[in-house]
Amino acid sequence: MTAVQSPLRPEQVDTIRTELLRTLTKLERSLKISGESARPRDLEQDTVGRLSRIDALQTQGLTKTLAERERAQLAHVVDALRRIEDGTYGACNACGGAIPFERLLVFPETRACTTCARAA
Ligand SMILES: [Zn+2]
Repeated sequence: MTAVQSPLRPEQVDTIRTELLRTLTKLERSLKISGESARPRDLEQDTVGRLSRIDALQTQGLTKTLAERERAQLAHVVDALRRIEDGTYGACNACGGAIPFERLLVFPETRACTTCARAA
C-alpha cells in the first residue's frame, strides 16, 4: 500500500461523497441565486433614491464577497470529489499520512491532516 492510497474504507468514502455532493448542490444553487440578485440592472433605475442606491451597492458588494467565497469552496469540493475518484482521498498532501475520518466529516474538502494543517 502506497502513501497516496486512500486510507478510508469504502463505506466511509461513500459517506464523504454523499456529503460533498450535497454541499456541491447547495453551492451551485446558492451561486445561481446570488448571481441573479447581483445583476446591475437594479441600480440603473432613476427612481432609486441616493440612499437606497448606496444600500443596493453595499448589498451587491456583500453578495459578491459571499459568491467569491462560495466559488472557492466549490472548487475545493470539486477537487475533493476528483480525489475520491482517483482513490487518493483521505491521504494528507503534506506528509502522506491518513487524515482521520472524524476530521474529514467536519472538513470534507481538507487536504491536510490535523498536524500538517496546524503547522501550515
Ligand atoms: Zn500530514
